[in-house]
Amino acid sequence: ILPSKTIEQVSEDVEKWAAQKKEELDSLRKNEAFRKEFLMNLSHELKTPIFAVQGYIHTLLDGAIDDPNVNKMFLKNATKNIDRLCRLLDDLDEISKLEVGEMTVTAEDFVIQDLIKDVFDTLSLKANQKNIKFSVKKGCEAPVHVMADKEKIRQVLINLIDNSIKYGKQDGHTTASIYNLDDKTLLVEISDDGQGMAEEHLPRVFERFYRTDRARSRDIGGTGLGLAIVKHIIEAHGQSINVRSKLEIGSTFGFTLPTGKE
Ligand code: ADP
Repeated sequence: ILPSKTIEQVSEDVEKWAAQKKEELDSLRKNEAFRKEFLMNLSHELKTPIFAVQGYIHTLLDGAIDDPNVNKMFLKNATKNIDRLCRLLDDLDEISKLEVGEMTVTAEDFVIQDLIKDVFDTLSLKANQKNIKFSVKKGCEAPVHVMADKEKIRQVLINLIDNSIKYGKQDGHTTASIYNLDDKTLLVEISDDGQGMAEEHLPRVFERFYRTDRARSRDIGGTGLGLAIVKHIIEAHGQSINVRSKLEIGSTFGFTLPTGKE
């Protein structure tokens, strides 16, 4: 029986197969490294609040419970750490759903300014505590329709605007701007005049658990997952996100969205 393929063709097939296997192996290795780093970060993030709660409870049991001034403060601090743990678990839930590709984008037509104002309302109490003013940039008020998953974009806006408060300054400003890039795409920007970030952090802020030292040391209470979630959502829409920032001047996060019907 004559072989259906020449030697050259067979060897070409073998080489193709080998290249594909190598690619698979590389990707497995990369995933493995990713997974290890993720677990290490995660256990660190979980330990911090758990050990703190443990410390407060032990100290209370060792006698601090009898001091009415101290016991209240310790219980308050323990609660703060439990709250942090809950936030972390919520974010983890969210990100694991996104990462196993369970995210489905259900696009609908809506006016982006309406959603922005909704989120401003949701976060207004928190903003008031620092007297931060929210606004839509002048000239960007005319209703703009987008075609996107409204609830997911709400999450994006909540995370970005919440950060603008967390890393914003007392009496600061958070501004939303909307620009048409072309017929099909628009750009939404959330800007603040807060603490900003040094250039070196910018390429990494969308990584899971990445935080600048300042945020860590001031213990602002974030989980380091908010921007990773934001990036996932925007990319699931086939869109992109970027950041500009200057230390002590402020930050601007901009993401694109497909335009809607009007
Ligand atoms: P976190 O839960 O720590 O806020 P995020 O993923 O939302 O996590 O953000 C990652 C890091 O990026 C933050 O810890 C902070 O260092 C930095 N960052 C995010 N948003 C801003 C902002 N508006 N201004 C300054 N730094 C920011």
